[in-house]
Amino acid sequence: MKDGEFTDRAAIVTGGAKGIGLAVAKRILENGGKVALWDVDDEGLAARVSELGSPPGLVATTVDVSSEASVSVAHANTVGAIGPIDLLVNSAGIIGPTVPTVSYALPDWKKVIDIDLTGVFLCSKTIAPGMAERGFGRIVNIASIAGKEGTANAPAYSAAKAGVIAFTKAMSKEMLNTGVLINCIAPGPIETEMVANADPKHVEIMILKCPMARLGTAEEVAAMTCWLLSEECSFNSGACFDLSGGRAVY
Ligand code: NAD
Repeated sequence: MKDGEFTDRAAIVTGGAKGIGLAVAKRILENGGKVALWDVDDEGLAARVSELGSPPGLVATTVDVSSEASVSVAHANTVGAIGPIDLLVNSAGIIGPTVPTVSYALPDWKKVIDIDLTGVFLCSKTIAPGMAERGFGRIVNIASIAGKEGTANAPAYSAAKAGVIAFTKAMSKEMLNTGVLINCIAPGPIETEMVANADPKHVEIMILKCPMARLGTAEEVAAMTCWLLSEECSFNSGACFDLSGGRAVY
């Protein structure tokens, strides 16, 4: 990826108020792009914009990615603020409760699926048509190794992330001749608030399972994401890339 890769590009990063989404947004900005941080956490958004010094080309939009109406309004406002969108990163997500399937409550199941899977569908279906009209677009969906191997006591999260991987493959095939390339990343445990809030014993087990014996960083996810958003990524679509410190997940 060349320096200034995203000059004249406009990006939407969902879940941009923290963690992986924020790291991706910073990297796009550093490389000349305009970025809309999309998040449900309005206080977090305001804090991030102020911490980043309100640079030109950065906007923040409060949105619930699981609501079609909210995504539609956010999209219209964002295009009004930074122009037509070239790049979309679907990073918004929640892990949900850590509960075995037999005790998992239906409202919790629905909430995780609505945000982690339906949110990716709604943002993609709303934003991709404009990309296709202009003949260029890149979409990166942040899945998880949980979607490939299944994580015990996180049935909804695992199912949602498996859905994101399959959705990426399906939609990418529909868009192949439009210049819109759609890929996803399956990270292992990454050092963000999502993992900081997990049971420390569980985090220890995650590290033991990693051949590199550590958590990944949001910056490492951002580096791979930004390559997939770049023009250098020209012969990949519908792929899922592991980012897991050598942990092989099939
Ligand atoms: P995080 O909790 O730090 O950030 C997630 C962001 O999504 C938050 O800012 C949150 O407010 C936002 N969000 C939640 N619900 C939303 C909604 N309905 N609408 C809009 N925004 C919403 O998490 P993270 O670690 O940065 O995770 C980012 C993505 O990466 C998630 O999809 C997660 O599943 C995935 N992932 C994370 C890890 C990890 O170990 N951290 C590993 C694999 C995959």
